[in-house]
Amino acid sequence: MTSQKTSNSTHSPSSTVHSRIVALAGGVGGAKLAHGLAQILPPEDLTVIVNTGDDFEHLGLNICPDLDTVCYTLAGLANPETGWGRQNETWNVIANIERLGGVSWFRLGDQDFATHIERTRRLKEGEPLSQVTKEFCAAWGIKQTVLPMSDSPVRTIVDTDEGELAFQEYFVHRHCGPRVKGFRFDGIEGAQPVVGAAEAIEAADAVVICPSNPWVSVDPILRVLALTPTPLPEREGQKINKPVVAVSPIIGGKTVKGPAAKMYAELGIEPSALAVAEHYHDLLAGFVLDNQDKQLSDNLKTGKILVTDTLMNSTADRARLAKDLLQFVGSLL
Ligand code: GDP
Repeated sequence: MTSQKTSNSTHSPSSTVHSRIVALAGGVGGAKLAHGLAQILPPEDLTVIVNTGDDFEHLGLNICPDLDTVCYTLAGLANPETGWGRQNETWNVIANIERLGGVSWFRLGDQDFATHIERTRRLKEGEPLSQVTKEFCAAWGIKQTVLPMSDSPVRTIVDTDEGELAFQEYFVHRHCGPRVKGFRFDGIEGAQPVVGAAEAIEAADAVVICPSNPWVSVDPILRVLALTPTPLPEREGQKINKPVVAVSPIIGGKTVKGPAAKMYAELGIEPSALAVAEHYHDLLAGFVLDNQDKQLSDNLKTGKILVTDTLMNSTADRARLAKDLLQFVGSLL
């Protein structure tokens, strides 16, 4: 590991700081920053721990949307327009399922189907999800370590004004329409953190919370890993002794994509980068917010602050944000 330390959090484009990083990621937002970090760090210095609360069983298959988004993105196989699914995708299988009168609201492309079919076969044979993921990563040429948060199923349930909905039912089938009242994570009490997560955090210089949905992408990971400054009800909290830095997924009061801002509003919290920082409160040694939200930095009580461009529209944007972030992390070590 190479590790340079900076004395402050000022961005200097000429220097690159290498630290060993564990990134906590959901789908699209998480995958983009993970890809940025992967462009800069040596592969052995990046471990991405991914939310599996969005996973579900559909058409007889085990589907892991966040894990696949992270892997496809790191492998350079992701659809650049959607951020999820595969590039150069075809849709013959789902079209034929539809023609037969089958369920087609969850759009799965032909190449994507192969991932789910093969994963389901391996899981049925008793392979843990982490092992399947490791083998898929090797097949896709991913050199970084990608870990599902747990090998045990955890399922995010969204409590809404129309009753409880399984996450994908809420997110994809109902287009996040129902009003959110809360969340619960089925199976979280018994879900052990994946083997390798604690070791990766122990070996890391810092933990980065990617700009993912705090409610449904990051909270399940934090709870499974028991990463908290205060013990959680499910199990003894693990006091984290590494700096934790979060990047806000909310810019100018809005999400770049997805329902995080809508969720904050429906839960009675004004959506903003400030709300995200307060969400993670004591856990944070540092917080990264967008230039658009510069004025909020005076109200932030959380550790050190980096204000930079956090919108990742291109591959270069991802690398630039990762570089800024690593330099910021360096200033915290
Ligand atoms: P999902 O499971 O695909 O919804 O993925 P995530 O939870 O990882 O990502 C959703 C969050 O990522 C949303 O709250 C977005 O606002 C955020 N996001 C997506 N792209 C960007 C980006 O380029 N910059 C920042 N700061 N946030 C982003």
